[in-house]
Parts: sequence; structure tokens; C-alpha cells
Amino acid sequence: QKAEWAKLVNEKSVTADGHHVELAANIGTPKDLKGVVENGGEGVGLYRTEFLYMDRDQLPTEEEQYTAYKAVLEGMEGKPVVVRTLDIGGDKELPYLDLPKEMNPFLGFRAIRLCLEEVDIFRTQLRALLRASVHGNLKIMFPMIATLNEFREAKAMLEEEKAKLVQEGIKVADHIELGIMVEIPSTAVLADQFAKEVDFFSIGTNDLIQYTMAADRMNQQVSYLYQPYNPSILRLVKMVIEAAHKEGKWAGMCGEMAGDETAIPILIGLGLDEFSMSASSILKARTLIRNLNKDDMEKLASEVLNMSTTEEVVEAVNKAVVL
Ligand code: PEP
Ligand code: MG
Repeated sequence: QKAEWAKLVNEKSVTADGHHVELAANIGTPKDLKGVVENGGEGVGLYRTEFLYMDRDQLPTEEEQYTAYKAVLEGMEGKPVVVRTLDIGGDKELPYLDLPKEMNPFLGFRAIRLCLEEVDIFRTQLRALLRASVHGNLKIMFPMIATLNEFREAKAMLEEEKAKLVQEGIKVADHIELGIMVEIPSTAVLADQFAKEVDFFSIGTNDLIQYTMAADRMNQQVSYLYQPYNPSILRLVKMVIEAAHKEGKWAGMCGEMAGDETAIPILIGLGLDEFSMSASSILKARTLIRNLNKDDMEKLASEVLNMSTTEEVVEAVNKAVVL
């Protein structure tokens, strides 16, 4: 089977009836690029930059960050690279930051919330990204956006840093797509409004499921509630994709669900444009997608959206698609 998959390294990710999607990879460090290339990744859909900040005793400098971002952009040779700005807090701590202990870290001071407060940390990262932007096809996205004002504030800081760099005579790419992760139900529900201002969405289902079902993604005792195929989740995903398309924007997914064989047929039916997953899942996903018909998956998607339980959805997918 692995040998069959390997033949698809340089093939397109296209359904049997000719619908193209992009299969990208999630990475944590420039070292992960080798796996992306070997597995035929068409881009990086999520570069989790927090690993640059972890396992050390001080913040990474602008120069260190620039070096890492440049390495990833050059390594992908012009293919799209979506870099997520710092997503720290929640389950990921930075000992040297001395952040307050919280009752509910997953509902607390994390990701963009922290960056908009600790602006020196955020601006340093934005500068490093902007400087690296000339070395490839950079797209920037902000994590854990809950309101439009958060997005606007973060975007304004990016534009200020860009203007400063230009004034200093430092080259910056002309156009850098700017998107958000959709990980919070408020943002999924309001996706039509966000879509007017962002360039793209990337649905972070790991958190979106946790926040929609109110079930801690790390807590075994409530893991039965962690249901990617629950119609409530599927409806949110549909809202996000439709909102994007209505404004001529693209929608991707970078949570685990994007590489899930039961979810992929539904996501194809819903029109998801980009699937970002661990590199080792790409060839398997490509094999599956090349055997699907978009038309049939659209019918499947509209069926499962009107179901009431996860179990019914799984049964319908298994009937429609022979995995
Ligand atoms: C997500 O929430 O789906 C996601 C991709 O981000 P992380 O897993 O890093 O929280
Ligand atoms: Mg997340």
C-alpha cells in the first residue's frame, strides 16, 4: 500500500471528476520540511511557530526567527507557507514569561490575546516574518481570533511594522495574504463578516471541537464528547467555507480533522480548498481524494448536515465511500 501511495508524490490532489484541492502539511520546525517534500506536500498549511519559543530560557530574537522563517520559505521553493503567529498559553507554557496561573487556561490569556497585550513579543515576530517574506510565498495567520476587533488590531500592528521596515529601507513582499484560524465558535458563526476583511480562513478543528462541545481536548473523561463528525461541527465548517467563497476567499483546515479519512469525503463535498495535515498523512489522503467524485460528496455532505448524531454520519460516510 505504501508503495502505491509513493507513486503519488508528484501527482495532483484532484478528485475523479476533476476538482482540485491543495494538500499541505503542518510543521513545527524547519527540520520538518524534509518530510513535507518527501510526502508530496503542496505547501505548508500551518507552521506552529511556538516551538521556536519553547524549550529554552528566553525569547527568540528577531534574527533567530528570521532565520527559521527564511529557511522554511526557501525550503518550500515558492509554494505557499502559512505561518501562524505565536500561540502560547493554554496547554503550552513558557516558563520564562512568568504568566499568571489561571483557573481555565484554555479559556484564558493565550495566543492572539497574549500577543495583543505583550506587544513587544508580537511586533518582534511580525518584523521577522515581514523580513522573511521576500524569500518565498508567505501567508500569515492569527490564532484564536474571537472578534473582528482582535483581527483589526493585529492587522494594524502588522501594517505599522511593515511601514517601519520600508522606511528603514528593508525589503518586504508587496502582498502577503493575511488570514485567521477559526477555532472559536463566535468566529465560525460570524464568518460572513470576517470574510469581508480576511484573505483566508484556516479552520482549527482541534480547538473548534473543544470549544463547541465544551469538552477539554486533553481530558480523557470527556473524550466521548470530542466529536469531529457531530453535525454541529459540520454545520460550522460549512458556514465558514461558504462565507469564504461568497467573498472570493479560500478556506482551509489545519486541525487533525483535515487528515481524517472519514472527514475528508464530507470536506470535499463542502468545498474545502486546502487540507493541512501531518506530512505522513498526505499521500493516503491524496489516494482517497483521487477516488472520490465531488458531485457525490456534495450529496453526501448535504445528507449528513441534516443528521442528528455522529454515529449516523459515520454510517453514511461508510456507505458512500469504501475506504
Ligand atoms: C487547532 O486548534 O485545530 C490547531 C490546528 O491548533 P493547535 O492544535 O496548535 O491548537
Ligand atoms: Mg488551536
